[in-house]
Amino acid sequence: MTMLEVNEVSVYYGKIQALDKVSLTVGAGELVTVIGGNGAGKTTLVKAIMGLLPIRGGTMRLGDVDLARTPAWDRVRHGIAYVPEGARIFRDLTVEENIRMGAFARKDVRIGSDMERVYTLFPRLQSRSRQLAGTLSGGEQQMLAISRCLMAAPRLLLIDEMSLGLMPVLVSRLFALVRDLVAENIAILLIEQNAKKALEVAHRGYLLENGRIVQAGDSAALMDNNQVRQAYLGG
Ligand code: ATP
Repeated sequence: MTMLEVNEVSVYYGKIQALDKVSLTVGAGELVTVIGGNGAGKTTLVKAIMGLLPIRGGTMRLGDVDLARTPAWDRVRHGIAYVPEGARIFRDLTVEENIRMGAFARKDVRIGSDMERVYTLFPRLQSRSRQLAGTLSGGEQQMLAISRCLMAAPRLLLIDEMSLGLMPVLVSRLFALVRDLVAENIAILLIEQNAKKALEVAHRGYLLENGRIVQAGDSAALMDNNQVRQAYLGG
């Protein structure tokens, strides 16, 4: 089943076109990556899906919800969660307060058990639950940002550049954790400059260059693709 469908979406900053008829899909329980270099349009794409930038042309659907008719604040309620570049946690709140914040739009009573599930996924956060979030390491802050999103019980998680600036050992742990999330039937769109790591964990991928999708396919096929190898995997 298709969870997210982006169809021929274009985005402009004034007269500058940042996305040119971008199309992609993410299935339920599928891990899909969008790779591409600096300025390719990756962040623009996630912001457009979240409703933080207006689209000019094209359509976007989440399940049977027409996203173009859904304001940004309401997209969260329909099951999209977003981990922005740089995590952006609330540094002056505790770890636990940050996690609880993610459940703000929910009225159901499963919040306690979801909190336990998050702590099972990220035991390091449990042992630091009363610590101020600003004192966490970069990798822990990313874990916290993902945890906060999970508390919104999303169907689709958008993650922008989670590995940027982190130590390699942490990067590997985070990618493994993301794969665990997909096993829980959450659809994930992973935006990454780290093409190698992203293609190692994702089922499928898209290569974005200058605002256009120029390659698409299974991760294994993309890793073998000449254009991808030359530009993003070091030959
Ligand atoms: P990076 O990894 O460096 O963030 P990216 O692939 O996420 O790159 P975007 O940030 O989406 O790329 O930028 C795509 C293009 O749009 C770039 O050419 C960028 O200069 C341009 N751009 C981004 N934000 C704006 C803005 N607010 N106003 C004008 N142009 C912008």
